[in-house]
Amino acid sequence: MAGERQADCLFCKIVAGEVPATVVRETETTLAFRDINPQAPTHVLVIPKVHYPDAATLAAAEPGIAADILRESAEVAAEDKTAGSGYRIIFNTGSGAGQTVFHAHAHVLGGRGFNWPPG
Ligand code: 5GP
Ligand code: ZN
Repeated sequence: MAGERQADCLFCKIVAGEVPATVVRETETTLAFRDINPQAPTHVLVIPKVHYPDAATLAAAEPGIAADILRESAEVAAEDKTAGSGYRIIFNTGSGAGQTVFHAHAHVLGGRGFNWPPG
């Protein structure tokens, strides 16, 4: 069934507590934890507890949870005091765009300057 836990999914295992993570925020529908390979002083992943392969499929099936991801991303940025100077929310979608974990997640990056266009 849509949204069900996938046995071979790293982020489903983090949600289940089977793989450790540095959790910074948790709600009924979302989990936010620090990226293991940070690309900025603030680099937090905000994920739905349900499994969808990317942000678009999550939004199509569970628009309320997709909105929760955005709201929690802003809370993460505010708590890490990065929001004052701005932050980025990034959804890599597809391997060609750098997606490596196929459980929807927002990268929240802050605490440094950013270039445009992004790399
Ligand atoms: P993607 O490349 O799919 O957009 O993002 C996946 C992210 O997950 C990467 O930034 C990577 O560093 C992070 N990551 C991979 N394995 C782990 C892990 O075991 N724990 C945590 N906290 N982050 C991970
Ligand atoms: Zn998953």
